[in-house]
Amino acid sequence: MALHQGTLQIFENNVGVSDAVLLDPLTEDKFLENLQQRFLHQQIYTYIGNVVVSVNPYEKLPLYTHGVIEEYRSRNIYELPPHIYAITDDAYRSMRDKNMDQCIIISGESGAGKTEASKVIMQYVAEVSGKGKDIDKVKEQLLQSNPVLEAFGNAKTTRNDNSSRFGKYMDIEFDFKGDPVGGVISNYLLEKSRVASQSQGERSFHIFYQLLSGMDEESLKELKLVPGAENYALLNKSGCVEVETRNDVEDFNAVKTGMEIIGFQKEEVHMLFQLLATILKLGNVQFSERTNADGTDGCDVVNIAEVQDVCTLLGCSLETLAGALMQRTVAVRGDVVRTDLSVGDAMYARDALCKAIYSRMFTWLIQKINNSIKVQEETRTKVMGVLDIYGFEVFETNSFEQFIINYCNEKLQQIFIELTLKEEQDEYVKEGIEWIHVDYFNNSVICDLIEKNNLGILALLDEECLRPGNTSDQTFLEKLDERCAKHPHYESRKCKKNQSDKSLPHDAFRLRHYAGNVLYKVSGFLDKNNDLLFRDLSQAMHQCSHPMLMELFPEGRPTEKSLKRPATAGSQFKISVTELMKNLSSKNPNYIRCIKPNDFKKARDIDMEIVRHQVRYLGLMENIRVRRAGYAFRQVYPQFLFRYKMLAPETWPRWAGEAKEGVQKILEEQNISKEEYAFGKTKIFIRNPRLLFDMEERRRER
Ligand code: ADP
Ligand code: MG
Repeated sequence: MALHQGTLQIFENNVGVSDAVLLDPLTEDKFLENLQQRFLHQQIYTYIGNVVVSVNPYEKLPLYTHGVIEEYRSRNIYELPPHIYAITDDAYRSMRDKNMDQCIIISGESGAGKTEASKVIMQYVAEVSGKGKDIDKVKEQLLQSNPVLEAFGNAKTTRNDNSSRFGKYMDIEFDFKGDPVGGVISNYLLEKSRVASQSQGERSFHIFYQLLSGMDEESLKELKLVPGAENYALLNKSGCVEVETRNDVEDFNAVKTGMEIIGFQKEEVHMLFQLLATILKLGNVQFSERTNADGTDGCDVVNIAEVQDVCTLLGCSLETLAGALMQRTVAVRGDVVRTDLSVGDAMYARDALCKAIYSRMFTWLIQKINNSIKVQEETRTKVMGVLDIYGFEVFETNSFEQFIINYCNEKLQQIFIELTLKEEQDEYVKEGIEWIHVDYFNNSVICDLIEKNNLGILALLDEECLRPGNTSDQTFLEKLDERCAKHPHYESRKCKKNQSDKSLPHDAFRLRHYAGNVLYKVSGFLDKNNDLLFRDLSQAMHQCSHPMLMELFPEGRPTEKSLKRPATAGSQFKISVTELMKNLSSKNPNYIRCIKPNDFKKARDIDMEIVRHQVRYLGLMENIRVRRAGYAFRQVYPQFLFRYKMLAPETWPRWAGEAKEGVQKILEEQNISKEEYAFGKTKIFIRNPRLLFDMEERRRER
């Protein structure tokens, strides 16, 4: 096989097994050892059936060149070493030729290489699909959405200099010829708390730094800004404003170009920048304590000039905004009363406003991109979806965010099981092949524990958030203890069964997820689920003449008399996850599981304990078991015959009989047990992919 220079060294000597389904005996240790061996030889990809396991190399490998793409183009998965290109090609061709919508689900922890993998997919699709003026424009728009979304949605964290702080699902839409005609992006769970504060050594979203270092001083002045992130309270507390591996000035230009190509109007870009400036200025607003005549606490704005600047940017009266920052309106027995905020409350409200503006602006941005890249209903025929979302998270302390993310991963596992097994089962029935049952853990029971209407943890959390009276994180935990104590996947110190378990603190509950146990501290659950913005602030925003804000804060409409609460964060997420699952279930799934080799972003260094942990939380051993449940490979008879006819004297060079019989002849020639394969109505089913690898090997030797 002629491989291009450069790829040669990497692809020539296959180390270990390229499909983990082949491991014998199948143990976690064997699996890990195989990954390690391969990784140390720059073989970062390994299959589990048609799942690609990818270990982040943290160095540029010659795996993504035009030449490599050409190699993978229109080849079968087993013909070449594992690669994202191989499954993308498979997905792309099934979509184009068999009219099956596809999705590629990428998961893994932060820094594992998910986002890079999604770009590899997009690059492949862009290269192998058609060319032409209109098509190229669409491709360019789709590709340009990356730098724009990354500027607003990514940040430097201790794990990843370019960490996506939101989940992203993108449908790429194609016409009947298989050429891209547009797309739709959905976002999940932007980590908006990052706007208000960051951990030591981390940064806020890239765009703030890009703006402050990339924009000329004159334009900054118009935005009431001065250059330099150190001048802004929201950016200067974490001890990190510059990142070695990033160039904010260059990136800023790329973002502006990207927005232009996608089709943003100049005024729209300007409005976005105004909102960014607003957030930075608001962050600088300071409050001082004041004791009122009646002894109650109040506060004053120390630097009113900052508030004045914001008012100028947004087209809002100083009285309204300053008022909303220092006071809130409450209804007391039918009367509307304004009460002063304490300094603490005012700071909380200010931060909540910054976070709300940012996250709503982000959603607006995505809608705007969607409007530009959407296609006319008539031209779209097939879809390939790419999901890039955080995998299971288990930290020292886990809170609401981890709970939500892990819930999403629990759902992804559920559809993995459903789709893999169901698809298999359906096909066996269709082809008249006997179904063999294999044990695997069905995680529906955990999904129910979390999401069941009225009874699940999310519902109980909402109940606690909406219930009048003195509710707190602790009363929420008490409620869980009362309602979930008997559930086999719920554990807490108050439950009888766990009373002697000293590893369980009194302010936490533990869920036994399919991938392992996670302890959640309840502190902050209510607040984060409530996600409240004082009404005065949303009203102030709604009154601004800035054209975007009215749209972004619809609940601030003064006629909105009823104090209807916006949906809680948890229930909103449940809705979007349900929607996502429905979408994914309607498509043929493909998987990429990403693994981070070490905590130091270092090349050629693989820490087996870190990898072991991820292998568990990605449920990879479970993946292998589900895959092993059936036949790893299947192909229609004529295709199989055509590829392997040289392996049997009767079928070479021509076979005149039925394709099925020819295939039988070829397999008989291979000297393997009859249990290894089964004859369906139209397809040959092969249990163990080793057979295929061997046959490929023999083909090559001919
Ligand atoms: P995630 O999205 O899972 O958090 P990223 O895709 O952003 O992780 O990857 C983190 C970093 O790891 C990238 O910025 C890049 O430096 C490196 N990386 C990831 N995948 C690859 C790859 N296939 N080849 C080389 N470097 C990679
Ligand atoms: Mg990412």
